[in-house]
Amino acid sequence: TSTAAAELLCGVNAKALLDSVDAFLFDCDGVIWKGDKLIDGTPETLEMLRSMGKKLIFVTNNSTKSRFQYANKFRSLGLSVSQDEIFSSSYAAAMYLKVNQFPLEKKVYVIGGEGIVQELQLSGFTALGGPEDGEKRAQWKSNCLFEHDKDVGAVVVGLDPDINYYKLQYGTICIRENPGCLFIATNRDSVGHMTDLQEWPGAGCMVGAICGSTERKPIVVGKPSTFMMDFLLQKFNLSTYRMCMVGDRLDTDILFGQNAGCKTLLVLSGVTTKSILDDPSNKIQPDYYTSKVSDFLNFLGE
Ligand code: PLP
Ligand code: CA
Repeated sequence: TSTAAAELLCGVNAKALLDSVDAFLFDCDGVIWKGDKLIDGTPETLEMLRSMGKKLIFVTNNSTKSRFQYANKFRSLGLSVSQDEIFSSSYAAAMYLKVNQFPLEKKVYVIGGEGIVQELQLSGFTALGGPEDGEKRAQWKSNCLFEHDKDVGAVVVGLDPDINYYKLQYGTICIRENPGCLFIATNRDSVGHMTDLQEWPGAGCMVGAICGSTERKPIVVGKPSTFMMDFLLQKFNLSTYRMCMVGDRLDTDILFGQNAGCKTLLVLSGVTTKSILDDPSNKIQPDYYTSKVSDFLNFLGE
């Protein structure tokens, strides 16, 4: 981890940065968009980077959508990004199970959204829970046990806007009682943007609930864990020292890039302000910072 204070991006170091990297990893919320709103100048910037021959990869901790749903979101915002360039934490959860040869005859209980369920199913896994259990109520009566599937071998927890006590009991009982049951967290972001105007509780809230009831630590597959990085490095045959991670969050994006040995650029268009960056309690310093990705257009026009 770098301890030197971040450098403000300018014409000179922006050109040097571009010369020193072959690929940009972009975080999505706070960098490309905020909620459903595109951040100004992003399409032109991405096009310019592509025209310079840079490989672009998009890494989001938001597990509520599948890669297919993200490709549609990019398209609806006027950005041409293909599914192969998108790495969401929903996809990472499915890939973690696949890479670790999770048995297809076992089942996965989901505390989270449709994105996780879709990605699990696309990889051939049987998913239970998710939106389907959104309206269920936990019942407890004497002489009556809460029923759960003994074949559940993994519980995946992500942001769940329909979290309820039934789901908490289902996930908890699987982890505590099914032998060897895995506890996987898509991510632990404290808050996220349900809209561009406000922050809401993120997946860290649901993951924290299951940590509390199971006294177990989750396997985190999203940023800052190295799982997605190792997976995409293998897929694209890239070298991390020729890559730059661009993000708005210090404890996920910048740490993710630094853990892997990438160059890092913080944009102030999301959750991190200049005063958070400069606060003495902040130990994470990116290599560079700038207000938004489209600043590249100005620097390179200089
Ligand atoms: N999780 C949720 C639920 C979110 O709403 C967001 C951002 O809106 C995130 C995670 C963070 O996503 P990203 O990694 O693209 O910044
Ligand atoms: Ca972000």
